[in-house]
Amino acid sequence: MSEICVLGTGMAGYGAAHKLREAGTRGILFDKKPHYGGHTASFGFEGKYTFDEGPHVSFTKHERLQKLFAESIDNNYEVLHTKVNNYWKGHWVKHPAQVNLHGLPTDLVINVIKDFVAAQQKQHGEIVNYEQWLRASFGDTFAENFPMQYTIKYHTTEAKNKSLDWIGPRLYQAKLEEVLRGALQPASVDVHYISNFRYPSHGGFVAYLKRFMDSSEVRLDHKLKSIDPKAKEVTFANGNKVSYKGIVSSVPLPDLIPTIQGTPKEVLEAAAKLACTEVVIVNLVVNRPDLIDAHWTYIYDQDIFFTRLSTPHLQSPHNVPPGCGSIQAECYYSKKYRPLDRTPKDCIEPTIRDLKKIGILREDDQILFRDVMHIDYANVIFDLERAAALKIVHGYLDELGIGYCGRYGDWAYIWTDESFISGENAAEKVLKKI
Ligand SMILES: Cc1cc2nc3c(=O)[nH]c(=O)nc-3n(C[C@H](O)[C@H](O)[C@H](O)COP(=O)(O)OP(=O)(O)OC[C@H]3O[C@@H](n4cnc5c(N)ncnc54)[C@H](O)[C@@H]3O)c2cc1C
Repeated sequence: MSEICVLGTGMAGYGAAHKLREAGTRGILFDKKPHYGGHTASFGFEGKYTFDEGPHVSFTKHERLQKLFAESIDNNYEVLHTKVNNYWKGHWVKHPAQVNLHGLPTDLVINVIKDFVAAQQKQHGEIVNYEQWLRASFGDTFAENFPMQYTIKYHTTEAKNKSLDWIGPRLYQAKLEEVLRGALQPASVDVHYISNFRYPSHGGFVAYLKRFMDSSEVRLDHKLKSIDPKAKEVTFANGNKVSYKGIVSSVPLPDLIPTIQGTPKEVLEAAAKLACTEVVIVNLVVNRPDLIDAHWTYIYDQDIFFTRLSTPHLQSPHNVPPGCGSIQAECYYSKKYRPLDRTPKDCIEPTIRDLKKIGILREDDQILFRDVMHIDYANVIFDLERAAALKIVHGYLDELGIGYCGRYGDWAYIWTDESFISGENAAEKVLKKI
């Protein structure tokens, strides 16, 4: 018997465990993988190269979490001023591009500004999808050349197929003066919504979870097989069974729902409609550190293989040996809109080819290490089917008293700190019911 069964050992699972510990309740965490950390897991390769499961930095504004995470690593972290740029048709543009147009083709700049002014002056009707929102916020030329292109690359579907309820502070909405200033002069002020971030000096991002891991009961290699909500019993693929008083899950909803015994057809169908991207991460170590002076870079061109680049050696110098640089390239797919059409390993060569094409790798660079990671749930796609389907799924879990949390339990576009808090909240809700 576990008082509370927590499914998943990512940020949300540890958030739940933290809340349970504070409440003096015993919780046991289960994970299908042989390691803990979920998306925030980090891996050491050849004893000298550290890569996270996709690039992760901490930009939480919650002082409580800043403190908790910092204590986990004995306050041994890097503090970095965020440098973000964009690659667009041979041009390197500081992010956000709309306030850094200087140096882009003249006709493009003129049309971006003309359309931006026109969009500001126009009366827009009801805005119901992301494409309409982009056109109204930025003007047609910018919308079509930048965010609408990036949407196809990153979210694997077109902007007109996306809703608005995920945008938050992610897209900077510029004033005309900022657009003009950025077009006329080379450097603009920093307006990215992440101005600074922290990253553990040693051990990769997962080090933030160490303190929580050490004080939790964890069972790895436990893949959820079925939940019997009446008997309050969970069965795992390895044959183990546990009874529970309460349950909190961060398992992705499309995987969780079919495991619940007696789930009605309409709930199964709703869960199957929830769309998410998957990502192949290509990890490379190169024999020089001066690859690119940005923590991450957005790539807009459809003919470049990857969507986003990041540089783990700039997050912490201990992620690679001295004199080396490292790159993570993210290549996005989704079962619903752009199925993965090759093995993850087959993403390595086109990535290297296009890193050379855009000038980050040189022909004479030595690639000291190359590998791939495949993440089957990356970013929730806020397509137009999501809201209605999610309401059915969450309503059903609420009825059964099954707590859900995290990026793939809330089915939301949330960050590590929000996932942790989501786990805390789900545990609190379940505690009230037992
Ligand atoms: C490429 C990428 C980059 C990101 N970068 C950042 C960043 O820089 N900063 C930031 O704050 N956030 C970032 N995020 C978001 C961040 O990763 C998530 O918000 C957070 O890690 C989600 O935690 P979670 O616990 O909800 O989910 P997960 O970390 O996915 O945890 C779920 C756990 O459940 C386990 N599980 C799944 N299915 C089963 C099953 N059937 N049985 C048992 N266990 C199961 C999984 O193995 C996993 O351990 C990024 C996300 C991605 C995809």
